[in-house]
Amino acid sequence: MTIEGLLIGGDRVPAASGQQSQLIDPATGETWATVAAGGVEDIDRAVLAAENARAGWRKVNSRDRARMLFTLANLIRTNLESLAQLESRNAGKPIRDARDEVNMAADCFEYYAGAINKVGGQTIPVAAAGTHLTFREPIGVCGMIAPWNFPIAITSWKVAPALAMGNTIVLKPASQTPLTALRLGELALEAGVPPGVFNVVPGAGSTAGDALVRHPLVRKISFTGSTEIGTQVMKLAADDIKNVTLELGGKSANLIFADADLDKAVVKSLWSVLGNSGQDCCARSRILVERPLYDTFLSQLTEQFQALKIGHPSEEQTEIGPLISTGHRDRVHRYIDIGKAEGAKLLCGGDIPTGALANGAYLQPAIFADATPEMQIVREEIFGPVVCVLPFDTEEEAVAIANNSLYGLSGSIWTRDISRALRVARAIETGVLSINTGHSVHLEAPFGGVKRSGLGRELGLAVLDHYSEWKSVFIAE
Ligand code: NAD
Ligand code: MN
Repeated sequence: MTIEGLLIGGDRVPAASGQQSQLIDPATGETWATVAAGGVEDIDRAVLAAENARAGWRKVNSRDRARMLFTLANLIRTNLESLAQLESRNAGKPIRDARDEVNMAADCFEYYAGAINKVGGQTIPVAAAGTHLTFREPIGVCGMIAPWNFPIAITSWKVAPALAMGNTIVLKPASQTPLTALRLGELALEAGVPPGVFNVVPGAGSTAGDALVRHPLVRKISFTGSTEIGTQVMKLAADDIKNVTLELGGKSANLIFADADLDKAVVKSLWSVLGNSGQDCCARSRILVERPLYDTFLSQLTEQFQALKIGHPSEEQTEIGPLISTGHRDRVHRYIDIGKAEGAKLLCGGDIPTGALANGAYLQPAIFADATPEMQIVREEIFGPVVCVLPFDTEEEAVAIANNSLYGLSGSIWTRDISRALRVARAIETGVLSINTGHSVHLEAPFGGVKRSGLGRELGLAVLDHYSEWKSVFIAE
């Protein structure tokens, strides 16, 4: 078995401590790869490499920098199948989903490569005699911390715009899923991105992640993960006033009005909670259904939950793979008992499969009906294949239930009444919404949360403000 080294200053190296960690295949429970486990010293080396690469990267002209990122996008596509296989095995993702995510990473590098020579400063008509200019300058060394649920996609959301704006990077992938990030770092070198511009240090959050957030030469932290850790990151970043963007948890609502296109609403509602086995920050894990449609909706949803193809992620027909680990699966499984004890009605699923799937981190997708807003299963992010369904009688009640959450990341509205759709869209406290679809993440549009779902935005041109500083320069006449 090969040992995957850290990527620091263009070289694959062991951890300074010599420590390694074993990766477990979520589908089988087998150990299948060994990765160097970075710690405080490695983060320091990587940050110094990024600091030293800063001046050179900033000087690369816009056309050449864009060409490197376009080349990287092409290399991702050339290696699409091997990257998808790696991601699928590492994260337990159905292979077809993994291919889509790798494609999205390539699209993301293309988008920001194209943006490089189209964004710049301004001249501003100030009330004084002279000329006021603004420069958009890189922030400096950016520390990126990524989660395990969409490793290559979320990594590219951070790395592509940061590189586009001339920053250098130390990325700490989730300890469970470091492999595509390391591969991406190597492809960036192959694309001509100079050594030290993009460093990748896998390691534990409590050591490597913590060291990255504390490092005085890091000027920005972009974190995607749980609200709990995001809170700690923001507190630590306050010590030296680092820039921070946080993409955190969610418990998004899916509002289904009685005039909705039922067939579409059922199947899309299913996938907007069960995609990636429910391990999706945008999962619409609270479905609110207007009373006249409630029973019909539930019976169709249950029928479709029971027909899902659960299986090994490498099989083309698999729709639902395992969760990231048996530890996480057991945490999700506990919510099944909690929901039952709270009096919600378990309509299907919630069991750990036996037989061929028994060694993997699988869980049968579950529906809780007749849930109420105060239940723990309705308030807390479960991050697994579990959905809560609640009835409602009026639009006002639906909006109140939707907003009765500490989170505000995503959500959906199903109705044929365009005025109501827009009225409700304005009333829901969330960063992202979809109307008559479960799909609202687009590379070209800002993405992020309100309330405890986060701070700042990723994607679109909006993210470029989070990877650059405005410098104001006034020239007297
Ligand atoms: P997590 O918070 O446990 O870990 C996220 C990352 O932080 C990992 O790389 C981890 O190693 C690191 N980390 C852990 N402790 C740290 C510390 N003390 N200091 C610095 N870094 C530390 O989250 P997870 O379990 O990997 O991911 C699931 C969570 O991520 C869910 O809550 C989900 O909603 C959220 N998420 C949000 C988005 C979004 O865009 N809003 C996207 C994906 C996932
Ligand atoms: Mn976690």
